Amino acid sequence: MTAVPLLTLNNGVQIPAIGLGVFQTPPAETGAAVEAALQTGYRHIDTAAAYGNEREVGDAIRRSGLDRSEVFVETKVWISDYGYDATLHAFDKSATKLGVDHIDLLILHQALPSRFDLTIEAYRALERLLADGKVRAIGVSNFMRDHLDQLLEKTSVVPAVNQIEVHPYFRQSDVLAADTEYAIRTQAWSPIGGITFYRDSGHTSTLDDPTITKIAATHARTPAQVMLRWGFQQGRSVIPKSTHPQRITENFHIFDFDLTTDELAAIDALDTGLRGGPEPDDITLERFGRDIPEP
Ligand code: NDP
Repeated sequence: MTAVPLLTLNNGVQIPAIGLGVFQTPPAETGAAVEAALQTGYRHIDTAAAYGNEREVGDAIRRSGLDRSEVFVETKVWISDYGYDATLHAFDKSATKLGVDHIDLLILHQALPSRFDLTIEAYRALERLLADGKVRAIGVSNFMRDHLDQLLEKTSVVPAVNQIEVHPYFRQSDVLAADTEYAIRTQAWSPIGGITFYRDSGHTSTLDDPTITKIAATHARTPAQVMLRWGFQQGRSVIPKSTHPQRITENFHIFDFDLTTDELAAIDALDTGLRGGPEPDDITLERFGRDIPEP
């Protein structure tokens, strides 16, 4: 079995370069997807309180027979649980559902620009959890440069990770640069551009892009493998989602070929600047708030 390369975070913790994402994976299908991934060699699962499948992720990890220390568990706190005490409690809810005593990486799912005070309090709770050894690393998601600037002004631990939308049609070079300046590891969500084809985002599918399919043909690989390799070679953590064992395996096999500098640049040049996900500045409790149930 291929061993997954590891990436080192800014606090020295190591994260597998590829993980399985489980956004939109129905709870009833989550166990099978996680099991397939762990059998293939994945050692990192990315879930979130808001995905409603943390329990199934934890159950599948235990069923795999792997030691807890062998699997990197990442989850996210939803905005409705922001605030110092609420976020400490969000850790308890997630840890209980996952059935773990510590979480490897806990991140804030979104910035709340209209309530940045609550975002800061939530992050201070993550800092507390880190100091108490309940989480091994902390981070953020969908934070733009100005959100990072504001956060870093008021808190002391630089996020280990910023999980943002990055695929060939939306590369967010400005946020990638900010992450690099702050020594934050970028983690790419929708790394094969899922949001370009599972939602009406105004894009055509990245899987059908002629530049990508041509590069894939050159290497006798699939478009998904080329996009994941592009992310890996540029230093990003990638977390593709699939519920199909064959695709879960396909997505994992990206560590035995190289894209050339020209090929990487050709993929970079596909950036349209058009975001597939929600505008980070439009995230409000009024529009996106929802209850995260107790375990
Ligand atoms: P991906 O780029 O991972 O694409 C997923 C889509 O591609 C699914 O429709 C999947 O279908 C399909 N697919 C997977 N592998 C292949 C393949 N080899 N060939 C063809 N189709 C394939 O997008 P996601 O948006 O799901 O992002 C991945 C993960 O990122 C999420 O699961 C989640 O963990 C995280 N995420 C985080 C967000 C955030 O706000 N922080 C937002 C969105 C995602 P099928 O399952 O049927 O195979």
